[in-house]
Amino acid sequence: MADDDYRIQGGCLCGAVRFEVTVHPISAGYCHCTRCQRRTGTGSSVSAMVPAEGFKLLSGEADLGGWRHPDGGSEKFFCRKCGAHLFAIHPDHPSRVNVRMAAFDGDPGVRPRLRQYVSYAPPWEPIPDDGLERFPEAAY
Ligand SMILES: [Zn+2]
Ligand SMILES: [Zn+2]
Repeated sequence: MADDDYRIQGGCLCGAVRFEVTVHPISAGYCHCTRCQRRTGTGSSVSAMVPAEGFKLLSGEADLGGWRHPDGGSEKFFCRKCGAHLFAIHPDHPSRVNVRMAAFDGDPGVRPRLRQYVSYAPPWEPIPDDGLERFPEAAY
């Protein structure tokens, strides 16, 4: 999937943190887990998986916050100034960066192909009947 011409930037709401992606995302998907619900204040979170070698922070390193749940999982990175969710990296899989789809400036060219942790979806937002592959727990 590597594309020499692929280049897209993104960042947080206040503009302090900026990043660039130069390798086409591998895939994308929705996560309906309760952590994502609390983290985002919404029913799900949608991210694109990007090879780490194609991900570069351009600015805002000092404003970049990271938090990892005491029970484990990915470290979630966000802007300390505006609170925008930006990306996540699992310490066991540092070769992949899960970039929040809405953090991209434009169209990253990848579309969500699955929904994971659907058994935890909140009752106030039913899973849409969109044909995407569903996983009751983790997809990977
Ligand atoms: Zn910000
Ligand atoms: Zn999740």
